[in-house]
Amino acid sequence: MAAIKCIGILTSGGDAPGMNAAIRAVTRTAIFNGFKVKGIMRGYKGLVFNEIVDFKSQSVSNIIQQGGTILKTARCKEFQTPEGRKTAYENMQAAGIDALVVIGGDGSLTGAGIFAQEYDVPIVGLPGTIDNDLGGTDSTIGYDTALNTIMEAVDKLRDTASSHERLFFVEVMGHTAGYLALNSALATGSEAAIIPEMETEVDQLAELINHGFRKSKNSAIVIVAENPKTGGATALAERVKKEFPQYDARVTILGHIQRGGSPTAHDRILASRLGEASIEALLQGQRNVMIGIRNGEITYVPFSKAVSHDKPIDRNNLELVKILSI
Ligand code: ATP
Repeated sequence: MAAIKCIGILTSGGDAPGMNAAIRAVTRTAIFNGFKVKGIMRGYKGLVFNEIVDFKSQSVSNIIQQGGTILKTARCKEFQTPEGRKTAYENMQAAGIDALVVIGGDGSLTGAGIFAQEYDVPIVGLPGTIDNDLGGTDSTIGYDTALNTIMEAVDKLRDTASSHERLFFVEVMGHTAGYLALNSALATGSEAAIIPEMETEVDQLAELINHGFRKSKNSAIVIVAENPKTGGATALAERVKKEFPQYDARVTILGHIQRGGSPTAHDRILASRLGEASIEALLQGQRNVMIGIRNGEITYVPFSKAVSHDKPIDRNNLELVKILSI
């Protein structure tokens, strides 16, 4: 393998708070170790359409506290075609980039895996998504901040729910995973979390209504993971109207607010550690792995495992939400 001289960084897919802290850590660790660094704008789009800029240490000044990503992010259809990836490779070579750090979610890391199979490019991935749906890592960059944003919003909803004695369905993001819903339900003392992982096992709404509400409770908050298959919180509220008309049900969809905001200390520290570890991995000759964290230790996770969606939900926590809301 030829020695790496210049590392390209990109952020791809949905933005997540802490991506900037990761860009900063990757850039500065790379420069510290004698590499050149190039920033690739708008995810894989910047590779395909040749939007590549030189990065210096100052390029990443004053960004650790900012949400979003200074490199911008995008979804790039062209990169999903062999022709698009060929152009991307040619542009990379022309820019002198000989290794990549890709910060993004499962789609972005799937793309990285395919690109690495087709071309001889060392790629290291960083888990950048609020959904926490990547395997081999306890947490992803952005997840903790999104969880805190949800918590603050639900605390406010609780005031109005209890004053009006209403049942609130609060829809949160998560792609097809229930981590945000389950753990925000725990953090807010919500009455239940309705998550895709349980969808085929029980009728979660009927269970909740039939067993969940104590007579003394006049209001309730139920956190619902977004779910295009079932219609999410809106569909649940419709069902309540028809099947359980005694409840005054309302829906709040938190939406893109969950992606924004200054990253928490947890996400800044995580991004800094993972960013440094990505350069360390390249120095060690690692390629085609995502950097994860398990029990506080850095781990190297093959892309195929990272995107395999086999990270189980913690069933004890699901039970705990029920126990603590009696
Ligand atoms: P999030 O989970 O936060 O939404 P993500 O990384 O999963 O982030 P996606 O929109 O799924 O977001 O993927 C981002 C980009 O990765 C796509 O726009 C595309 O450019 C690339 N990508 C995804 N899947 C593939 C694939 N199978 N082959 C090549 N590229 C892909």
